[in-house]
Amino acid sequence: MADKIFRVNMTDLTTAIEDVPADWAGHGGRGLTSTIVAAEVIPTCHPLGPNNKLVFAPGLLSGTVAANSGRLSIGAKSPLTGTIKESNAGGTAAQLLARAGCKAMIIEGLPKEDKWYSLALTPDGVTISEETELIGKGNFEVVETLSKRIEGKFGVVTIGQAGEMKLTSANVSIKDPDGGIRSNGRGGLGAVMGSKKIKFITIDPKGGKVDIADPDKFKAANRIFAKALIDHPVSQALGQYGTNVLVNIINESGGLPTRNFTQGQFEGHESISGETMHDTIEQRGGKVKHNCHPGCVIQCSQVYNDADGKKLTSGFEYESIWAMGADCCVEDLDRIAEADRIMDDIGIDTIETSVAMGVAMEAGVLPFGDGAGICRILKEEIAKGTGLGRIIGSGAGAVGRAYGVTRVPVVKNQAIPAYDPRAIKGIGITYATSTQGADHTMGYTIATNILNVGGKVDPLTKEGQVELSRNLQIATAAIDSTGMCLFIAFAALDDEKCLPALIDLINARFNLSLTGDDIVNLGKYILKTERAFNIAAGFNSADDRLPEFFYNEELPPHNVVFDFTGEEIDTFWDF
Ligand code: SF4
Repeated sequence: MADKIFRVNMTDLTTAIEDVPADWAGHGGRGLTSTIVAAEVIPTCHPLGPNNKLVFAPGLLSGTVAANSGRLSIGAKSPLTGTIKESNAGGTAAQLLARAGCKAMIIEGLPKEDKWYSLALTPDGVTISEETELIGKGNFEVVETLSKRIEGKFGVVTIGQAGEMKLTSANVSIKDPDGGIRSNGRGGLGAVMGSKKIKFITIDPKGGKVDIADPDKFKAANRIFAKALIDHPVSQALGQYGTNVLVNIINESGGLPTRNFTQGQFEGHESISGETMHDTIEQRGGKVKHNCHPGCVIQCSQVYNDADGKKLTSGFEYESIWAMGADCCVEDLDRIAEADRIMDDIGIDTIETSVAMGVAMEAGVLPFGDGAGICRILKEEIAKGTGLGRIIGSGAGAVGRAYGVTRVPVVKNQAIPAYDPRAIKGIGITYATSTQGADHTMGYTIATNILNVGGKVDPLTKEGQVELSRNLQIATAAIDSTGMCLFIAFAALDDEKCLPALIDLINARFNLSLTGDDIVNLGKYILKTERAFNIAAGFNSADDRLPEFFYNEELPPHNVVFDFTGEEIDTFWDF
C-alpha cells in the first residue's frame, strides 16, 4: 500500500490522511521527523505550546524483515533542550505503523477542553476518543489494561505520570513484543505528548504489509546484512552481557563517571557489571538474550528477575545502570533494577533522572549510595508530583539551578551520559556539537576510542577526535533514518560487506540505486537541517561547549581535563 501522512489536529479534534510531499518521500525515521519539524514548527515556539508538533516516523526499512529495522523515531522541539529533537526506540510500534501505510504521523495543536484523549491508528486513519480510565496510571497498567480492552495484535505508544505532568524528562514509551516497555527517552518528548493531552496511541495495521520493489534482491541483501551483524564480536558480546558489558571496560579506561563526575573509576564496578548481571540472570531463570523488537539478531536486551524469580525489568541498559550505579554510588544491582522498573512505569528518562539524582546527592538531598532513597523519591515524589519530584523530574539542570550546584553535567540542558569526556575526548566533541544536547548515541566515538572498532583513536589525546565525531554523527543521522538499531554500526564500521548490504536493502525496498555517497549526503543534510533549526531557535556556537568544570577539574585516575578550545570544537561544522 502507498505510504501516507496521517495528521491529527488536537485543537479541533480532526484527522486527515495526506499524500507524501515529493521532498519528504526519500526520508524516514530521524531524517523525516527532523525534515517535518524544520518545515512545520516555528523554531522559537514554546515546546509545550500550540505551535509545537509531535512527529512519529518509522524508518525506511521498518515493517520489512530486514534485521534490526524496528526503531521508531519521534521528533519535536524539545522542552528539555529547546533544540530540535529526535529520539528513537524499539518495541513493535514502528513495524506496525509502517505496515499500516503510515510514513509519518504529525500531531499538532492543543485541545480546547481540559480532557484526556487516546488515538487509534489503522490504515483507514486515526480515531480520537476521550480517555478517563487510564489517566494517572503507569505505563505497565496502560499496556495490561489495553490488552484486555482491545482484541487482536496491536501496538501501544503511551506516556506515564511524568508525561501527564509535562515533566521535561518524560519519555514516550512503546510496548515491546512481551508487553514490556521501550523508551524514547531523551529530551522530554513525553511532555509534548502530555501537552497535547494524549495518554496513549494504539496501532493496528489490519493485516497490512510493506511493499518490496525487488523481493529477491531484498532477501539476498538481508542474508548478507544479518550475517555481518551476527558474526561481529561486539554483537556477540552485546548478546551475552547486554550493553552493560561496558561497565568493566569503561571503568578500566578511567572514563566511568563516578560520584557526580568527580572520579573516572568506581570501586563497586564489579557488583554492577555485565558479568555479574549475566550470572544473576542465569541463576534466577531470567533471559540473557532478548530482543526489543521482532527481527533483531543481536539481542542485547534481557529479562532480569528478582530473587524470587519474578521479572523485575528488561532492556536493562549500561547507561541506566551506570547512572544509578557509579554516578550515584549505588552498588546493589537489584535496587538499580527496581529503580529502572519504576522509571519505565512512570515514563521518565533513566539517564536524565539518575544524573539528576547524582546532582541532588551532591546538594545533600540524599546521600550518595542511597538506592532505597532513589526508589522512594521516584515513587513518592516524582510519580506523585510533589515539589521535589517535579524538580528532579525536570532533569539535572533543574536540580542544579534549584540547589545552587555548579558541577552539573549537562550540554544544552541535557544530562551527559556514561562516558566522561575528559578521559574519552571524542565523546566530548559529540556531546558539545550534537544538535540535540549531550547524547552518546549521536556519534558513538566509544566504538573507536575504546572498542577499537573501525580503527583506533587514542581517547586521551585530542588528535583525530573532531573528525571521528563528525564522521560518526553523519553516519548515525543516516542510520537513524533507516529504522535500524544503532548497534549495526559496529559491523558497518568493520565488515566491508555490511554497509553495501544495507544500501542494497534500501534500493531493493524502493527500486532505487543509491550509493555510499548518497548515504553520506543524507547524513550531512540531516545534521545541517537540525542545526539550522537550532540557530533559528536562538542557539549559537557558544552553546556547543561543555560545562566549565570539565575544563577546570582534573579527572582521576588519568588526571585529565577537557582541553579543546572553542575554535577547535567549531571546526566540527566544516563540511
Ligand atoms: S540490539 Fe538491542 S537495542 Fe538493538 S534492536 Fe536488538 S535488542 Fe533492540
